[in-house]
Amino acid sequence: QKTGAVGFNIAKVIVVGDVAVGKTCLISRFCKDSFDKNYKATIGVDFEMERFEVLGVPFSLQLWDTAGQERFKCIASTYYRGAQAIIVVFDLSCVSSLDNARQWLEDAMKENDPSSVLLFLVGTKKDLSSPDQLAYMEQEAIRLSEEIRAEYWTVSAKSGESIREFFFRVASLTFEAN
Ligand code: GDP
Ligand code: MG
Repeated sequence: QKTGAVGFNIAKVIVVGDVAVGKTCLISRFCKDSFDKNYKATIGVDFEMERFEVLGVPFSLQLWDTAGQERFKCIASTYYRGAQAIIVVFDLSCVSSLDNARQWLEDAMKENDPSSVLLFLVGTKKDLSSPDQLAYMEQEAIRLSEEIRAEYWTVSAKSGESIREFFFRVASLTFEAN
């Protein structure tokens, strides 16, 4: 078991990114299979537990969601600390959210060991983007993901596109690294 890890078969996964990029919807689409189009800043709840079975072994992800503090960029260090995977989220329809992704990653990395943490860069709201916009954002996002060595995904919490595949991938890579 690595230092800071939650436990042998539980991994802490943190979700970061600008306010309103779709972090909470990403988690709830997967954990509750629901989508809420009305915006509510997440209040209070720290994490959702999701059970997986990887290679026949029970394995859980503790998915940490911010509680609206990202609006003020004042995330407590306990939120970041001891993460085994970091999911950096941006909105495919909002260029500034991708520009800010790098800063979110840097902040999260201050509390983590770069040699052991897994990184994912996730573009959300794929259903909203025009093909032209998507092409531009994809090009920039792929460039960033290569630079930071993150696995790059595009998803839609609204349609559900790639949500299950994405979280299963997070679970299996985190399990392998555990
Ligand atoms: P957070 O602040 O990053 O947690 O963002 P939320 O998950 O609360 O989502 C912010 C807004 O974006 C809400 O109004 C959601 O309904 C909307 N949203 C989130 N994901 C999607 C998506 O995949 N497609 C569309 N069209 N809207 C989304
Ligand atoms: Mg939220």
